Amino acid sequence: MVLMPMLHGCAFPGCSTFTLSTYCVEHELLVRALKESERTHTISALDEPLTAELETRGANMATEPGTALI
Ligand SMILES: [Zn+2]
Repeated sequence: MVLMPMLHGCAFPGCSTFTLSTYCVEHELLVRALKESERTHTISALDEPLTAELETRGANMATEPGTALI
């Protein structure tokens, strides 16, 4: 069996589809979607608590600082 020199197996574990890029079309889309959702999730996870913390801190300072523990 002779293969085109440019073709190689999909890098996705368990997939033996031959492709010109790292992954076959199916897994290229899958991996891209996973990376996108991962990045979106990471950004929102890091961003939201920080923003909430700053807002809480600002609100506490805006009100009476001496009675913050009550
Ligand atoms: Zn694949």
